[in-house]
Amino acid sequence: MTDTFGRAHTYLRISLTERCNLRCTYCMPEEGVLLSPKSNLMTYEEIYYIAKTFVNQGVTKIRLTGGEPLIRKDIPIILEKLSSLPVELSITTNAVIVEKFIDTLKVNGIQSINVSLDSLDKEKFKQITRRNDFEKVYKNILLLVKNGFKVKINTVLIKGFNDNEIIDLVQFTKDLPVTIRFIEFMPFDGNKWDMKKMVSYDEIMKKLNSFYSEKLIERLEDAPNDTSKNYRIKDYKGTFAVISSVTNPFCDSCNRLRLTANGQLKNCLFSATESDLLTTLRAGKPIEPIIEKALQAKFKVRGGMDTLEKLKQPKLHSNNRSMITIGG
Ligand code: SAM
Ligand code: SF4
Repeated sequence: MTDTFGRAHTYLRISLTERCNLRCTYCMPEEGVLLSPKSNLMTYEEIYYIAKTFVNQGVTKIRLTGGEPLIRKDIPIILEKLSSLPVELSITTNAVIVEKFIDTLKVNGIQSINVSLDSLDKEKFKQITRRNDFEKVYKNILLLVKNGFKVKINTVLIKGFNDNEIIDLVQFTKDLPVTIRFIEFMPFDGNKWDMKKMVSYDEIMKKLNSFYSEKLIERLEDAPNDTSKNYRIKDYKGTFAVISSVTNPFCDSCNRLRLTANGQLKNCLFSATESDLLTTLRAGKPIEPIIEKALQAKFKVRGGMDTLEKLKQPKLHSNNRSMITIGG
């Protein structure tokens, strides 16, 4: 699945639900989002059929996301079906209820889990997620590590809110073998994004360089198609990374496609257009031609928002969905 810029697409992210047990301010509007009727959401059989079609087309990696993927009642069946495909299967979760799924995740060959945690401060966690679940998430991160999962922690930095925790979060990797990934705050429909609230890659590194001596910060080799720039503080068990989609997009090596919970293919996180795979599938027609057309229509950079000036335009954000209904 190669697009017009020569990028081979081998990675599919599937959103399993538009719902969530947290309500992060950067991900969804306060009033919530308009949910799709249940009949418009993919069933587990449809998810499996579409995933299998992508695998036949060259996908080798699938990540399940949402909303919160673990709140879907049929998550054990979904994991079981998808684990029968020849792919690396992984999941992104807020970890609030992950303790119930340790065995299910292991049995289905999940090795790598991404967990969202934006603050080590209980009150701030409550402010950003609008829920009081810090302790559960913190305990569950330790539980995942204890059970041998490779854990990456996603932290969205917001200026004046949690950017004073950058050092504390990196210190968290001293004794714990996790990767802390600082994500630049991105604009989506209804998340009140403002460039001034974003903490950039440069600012993050400046803060770290002024705390640790430069010799202690080791630049690590990034994996192919990696969206993050990876580092380690010398002798620390874990690592840290920065995902700079705003100031330094990694679109040149993009290998990702996204499937929303209501069966729409998005060729980019920032794309304003979608291709309806579910309706086509339900009409008994082949979905391969639609996938191919969507792939060939993919823009070179951020769904066409190739400059910071374009990214700053609120009108363009509202052409897209809220992150909770895309699947990050
Ligand atoms: N509920 C799961 C979770 O929180 O990990 C999975 C879905 S969530 C939408 C996936 C990722 O998207 C999370 O790591 C979250 O931090 C990130 N995300 C959501 N909104 C974002 C934004 N505006 N900018 C950057 N990252 C965002
Ligand atoms: Fe839910 Fe994840 Fe969005 Fe937070 S970031 S509201 S946990 S989907």
